[in-house]
Amino acid sequence: MRILHVCSELYPLLKTGGLADVAGALPLALNRQGADTRVLLPGFPAILAGFHSAAEVVRLQTFAGPARLLFGHTEDGVALYVIDAPQLYERIGNPYHDAQQEAYADNYLRFALLGWVAAQLAGGLDGWWRPEVVHGHDWHAGLMPAYLASQGRPVKSVFTIHNLAYQGLFPSRCFAELDLPASFFSLHGLEYHGQLSFMKAGIFYADRITTVSPSYAREITTPEQGCGLDGLLRDRSSNLFGILNGVDEAVWNPSTDDAIAEHYSAAKQAGKVKCKARLQGQMGLAVTEDKPLFAVVSRLTEQKGLHLILAGLGEITARGGQIVVLGSGDAWMENAFRAAAEADPANIAVKIGYDERFAHQIMAGSDIIMVPSRYEPCGLTQLYGLKYGALPLVRRVGGLADTVVDCSLENLTDGIATGMVFDEFSENGLTQAVRRAFALWSRPKDWKTVRRTGMQQDFGWHAAAEQYLALYRAL
Ligand code: ADP
Repeated sequence: MRILHVCSELYPLLKTGGLADVAGALPLALNRQGADTRVLLPGFPAILAGFHSAAEVVRLQTFAGPARLLFGHTEDGVALYVIDAPQLYERIGNPYHDAQQEAYADNYLRFALLGWVAAQLAGGLDGWWRPEVVHGHDWHAGLMPAYLASQGRPVKSVFTIHNLAYQGLFPSRCFAELDLPASFFSLHGLEYHGQLSFMKAGIFYADRITTVSPSYAREITTPEQGCGLDGLLRDRSSNLFGILNGVDEAVWNPSTDDAIAEHYSAAKQAGKVKCKARLQGQMGLAVTEDKPLFAVVSRLTEQKGLHLILAGLGEITARGGQIVVLGSGDAWMENAFRAAAEADPANIAVKIGYDERFAHQIMAGSDIIMVPSRYEPCGLTQLYGLKYGALPLVRRVGGLADTVVDCSLENLTDGIATGMVFDEFSENGLTQAVRRAFALWSRPKDWKTVRRTGMQQDFGWHAAAEQYLALYRAL
């Protein structure tokens, strides 16, 4: 089956979040199960630099100016179509906004073109390869199903919501430039309270909608988590499915990871001790096995609930723990974490920035990875924590609720506990979970059992790939 994925980032070429990890791993997982998968991406500098044997498929004149469609492969063997349109994409740094964090004013054109080219490929733009299903990811690809609908739906479409909060909203005047039928700008279309919504377009026009965990699929149909689109999602709920993301074991595996101090596995965990000592030393923390080392690897945004961690730092250090933080994002949060580290450098270490290798070293060196999100569509960080023996301490929401089992007495007794889970999105909720972490730490035998259970969980991509293939087949 020929599948075209449409998205805006792809690991290892360009990554701002979990979406890139999915785009990098899912196509290969689908191919391993017999599919013929290609990915369509905008020609951002990092994408153009990272793919090989690029051949020109076609030159296009479009509503967003001239463009060339290229075809090639990444080093990992992912087949890529890339839209080379320098006037839109040749901008260094973040793909969505400038250095001042301002979204680019022409984002509606930059990402409409992505959806438009996808629809052209579905219509036979490349004489050598034509997809049978087109699968778009997040608002950047939201117009793809709309363009397909405007062409009489030559192939079926799937649209995956990775994060409903980012919707791609633009003023209504932008619509006239996008080469879509005027009738599409309506309540039964892509209009959203007088604006143009790429996310709504994806949800409204796609044949099937998926999101990245079963819990999030339910949550987004409620007013609390529906970000204003819950009504439409309820209408479409018979075509809405939750499929959990996986872990790319070629990238995230402590028994083969070349970024970490020593390899280890669920069966042989000794190497983790060295990874912890290396991390503590590197970050200027007191080097000791005795203190539980908490960790955060995250975008520093409101969504991730990190203000709860800021408020809970005293609880962690007063009880004899340490914490290491890697993240970048909101300036006030970056400053608050920096200030906390300066005040207690033996126990709190902070690195502001984005550092893929260091993220691996933190997973390997820490004892607990904290993800206290307000909402979390799937969350990959806690899955990496499980894999690396860093017990996830998470809020019971979205994909976190679907992947971590609290170390309550009954779960410990049944041998299914893998971490710490709390409900209330408050400092008190987090503190209760931190206390539970210390209680478990004081029972080393139980700690090791929980760690082993977590490391033995199977979150490989094969399960997700099977479910996506079943969905494509049904279409
Ligand atoms: P989201 O996509 O909402 O940011 P996920 O948990 O799904 O959250 O994915 C986050 C991904 O980004 C993970 O691979 C995580 O390791 C990575 N990540 C987040 N912040 C950083 C950072 N500062 N440095 C390196 N990797 C990071």
